[in-house]
Amino acid sequence: MRLPFDSVAILGAGLMGRLMAVTLAQAGCKVDVFEAGGPEAEGAAARVAAAMLAPLAESAVAPVSVVRMGQHALSRWPELLASLAQPVFFQREGTLVLWHRQDSTEAARLARVLARTGEQVPELPPMRAIDGAAIAALEPSLGTRFAQGLFLPGEGQLDNRALLASLLATLQADARVTLHWQSPRAIPDFAPGTAGQPDRVIDCRGLGARPQWNSLRGVRGEVIRVHAPEVTLQRPTRLVHPRYPLYIAPKPGNLFVIGATEIESDDMSPASVRSTLELLSAAYAVHSGFAEARIVEIATQCRPTLPDNLPSIRQPQPRVMQVNGLYRHGFMIAPAMLDAAMELLAHGHSALAESFGLEAAHT
Ligand SMILES: Cc1cc2nc3c(=O)[nH]c(=O)nc-3n(C[C@H](O)[C@H](O)[C@H](O)COP(=O)(O)OP(=O)(O)OC[C@H]3O[C@@H](n4cnc5c(N)ncnc54)[C@H](O)[C@@H]3O)c2cc1C
Repeated sequence: MRLPFDSVAILGAGLMGRLMAVTLAQAGCKVDVFEAGGPEAEGAAARVAAAMLAPLAESAVAPVSVVRMGQHALSRWPELLASLAQPVFFQREGTLVLWHRQDSTEAARLARVLARTGEQVPELPPMRAIDGAAIAALEPSLGTRFAQGLFLPGEGQLDNRALLASLLATLQADARVTLHWQSPRAIPDFAPGTAGQPDRVIDCRGLGARPQWNSLRGVRGEVIRVHAPEVTLQRPTRLVHPRYPLYIAPKPGNLFVIGATEIESDDMSPASVRSTLELLSAAYAVHSGFAEARIVEIATQCRPTLPDNLPSIRQPQPRVMQVNGLYRHGFMIAPAMLDAAMELLAHGHSALAESFGLEAAHT
């Protein structure tokens, strides 16, 4: 892709910042990345996320535009990952949705919502209602514990930390890229397009962008990582829950990410006892092998969220672009956001951004 500029400053090296930096450098740009924290992304929501890529499952809480972005992204991830310096675990083995008898009313409601999404987004692989035998065939280690479930074929997940590390290695290997760690910056720190300044500034600071985008808010999430050699699951499993969707995402090395709470709060304090009990009980209820699992980490982060819970690309002043509001779908939609942002940067308009309903304001 030919770009009408030569250099960019990217603020934030979380998920979107790293993806934008790699793609812009691959397109021939000189890229400076300014990150408030260090290379381990310890301040990024992306480090804590489960990185499930589940557009149909997420349609329980997301509109059709986000589902379409998720479906676009699922087909783009393999190509993006293939261009990186290190391999990243990525799979599309589908999502299994299960419930306990006492939650069957909520499960029936969920099934109706997902069926409606399937009608509105025909490109989604059709959901299947399955019985206990089909559940056991998909996940033999669950046996006959569950009598009913839903199977959402083609949905995926990836290893978030391997992705962040691979994006980092790709940036470090590229002579066009300079990485500035422990270097918090804000948009007013730059005068893009003037002498000695980058041609463009791209703000990917997540919640750190609040000083220039004050309607952003944090939505707290707590996640537990366990090491469970006795548990074998082939794919992310979701458990219908009255308060928020709970999931168990199997990662390489017998690691499982159990998440995630969803609490309207900017609070980044450690996980509560209640959330920890709920998450671990849910995992144990799905598979008793989690009883002997070892807790590796209990983490809290806040999802960068706009008032309508939708992602946005905006250009608040000439030569400045902001990509934000990825909420609970950052990994699920990031390639769609990336492709739309790149079209906007290259042409000043983007059919893709319009088709996803993303704001595409003045350049
Ligand atoms: C508990 C939890 C579970 C999740 N699970 C999933 C999931 O399963 N699937 C999914 O798709 N998404 C999930 N997400 C959402 C996903 O993590 C986010 O949508 C995504 O990380 C947002 O990406 P971002 O680049 O905008 O922000 P971030 O990843 O937060 O990165 C922002 C970066 O900007 C840096 N920064 C901040 N201020 C400054 C400054 N002044 N100067 C320079 N740098 C700065 C930060 O240090 C950080 O590195 C989850 C999130 C949470 C919290």
